[in-house]
Amino acid sequence: MKAALMYDIGKIVVEDVPDPEVDTGDILIKVEACAICGSDVRTLWHGSSHVKPPRILGHEVVGTIMKMGAQVDGYELGDVVAITPAIECGECLYCRSGFTNMCSKLETIGFEFNGGFAELMNVPAKAVKQGHVNKLPSGLSCDQAVLAEPLACCINGQEPLGIGLGHKVVVIGAGTIGLFHTELALLKGASRVFLADVVLSRLKNVVNLGKNVVPIDSKNIDLIKEIMVQTNDYGADIVIVACPVGEAQNQALKMVAKKGRVSLFGGLPPDQSIGHIDSNLIHYKEIGVFGAHASTATQNRLALELLANKRVDASRYITHTFRLDQIMEGMNAAKEGKAIKVVVKP
Ligand SMILES: [Zn+2]
Ligand SMILES: [Zn+2]
Repeated sequence: MKAALMYDIGKIVVEDVPDPEVDTGDILIKVEACAICGSDVRTLWHGSSHVKPPRILGHEVVGTIMKMGAQVDGYELGDVVAITPAIECGECLYCRSGFTNMCSKLETIGFEFNGGFAELMNVPAKAVKQGHVNKLPSGLSCDQAVLAEPLACCINGQEPLGIGLGHKVVVIGAGTIGLFHTELALLKGASRVFLADVVLSRLKNVVNLGKNVVPIDSKNIDLIKEIMVQTNDYGADIVIVACPVGEAQNQALKMVAKKGRVSLFGGLPPDQSIGHIDSNLIHYKEIGVFGAHASTATQNRLALELLANKRVDASRYITHTFRLDQIMEGMNAAKEGKAIKVVVKP
């Protein structure tokens, strides 16, 4: 099969490799679509402790079942399925508490396992067994269903924030993740979402989100000042940092109200994660600061449902599609922030 292998920082080569082996509990899919995630871009240019090259990246995958191990039950050849990539052990304390994304032995497709930037992808037995292979609900195309994984991660990230009726929410970063957070916050009853980005072209995407979303050009407007003006000097109830920028994390602490909650949703590159936050802001304002990592199989099923029912409109997110051999062009488009969501179709 053809596959895109990451060999080194900044280097992906598309080449012929042997088809993946399929063990008795595994499922082999023909990849129909695999979207590029911010973490793929970060891994390619900054590396990741979870990726030992050469590795096929890509974890937002939808495909058609081509082959199944003898022990696989409940699926048929030809089923079109979306994959939940973060695979839990099922046995540790976190798994038994339902927080499978926090599993002590978490292994992820596109990181520890080969991913979806290839013609074929193997889904390991423990993923199949634990509900990570989900048939697409009717009315949802493969291109749209790749959005389930990033949407599931946003659902997970919002769980501890308690967004509710009338809340004023700030989302910093108007990429796919920022737009998903905006849509989810509105679904939960937020009265206003202020969506900020330094890239003007991204803010154009905001127009469709309706009158309760206020775009802010934070390159030319002082974001903290603007939020204080818009909230009668109290600050926002919730601030979600949906970009990989340390300074934005500290800005979030400044513009959130006392007793407010901040999500550090976007991870920082490993060499840039220390020394951004003024912890006294957390202390004196009694701010709750939350992290977010990956998502569970349950949250992925919920995301598929929201997309299929058009509670989150999948149609506006995919702006660029590339063939597998054009993957570096896709990575560059994702990196430059011109695209909302880039999909690679083998
Ligand atoms: Zn992702
Ligand atoms: Zn576990």
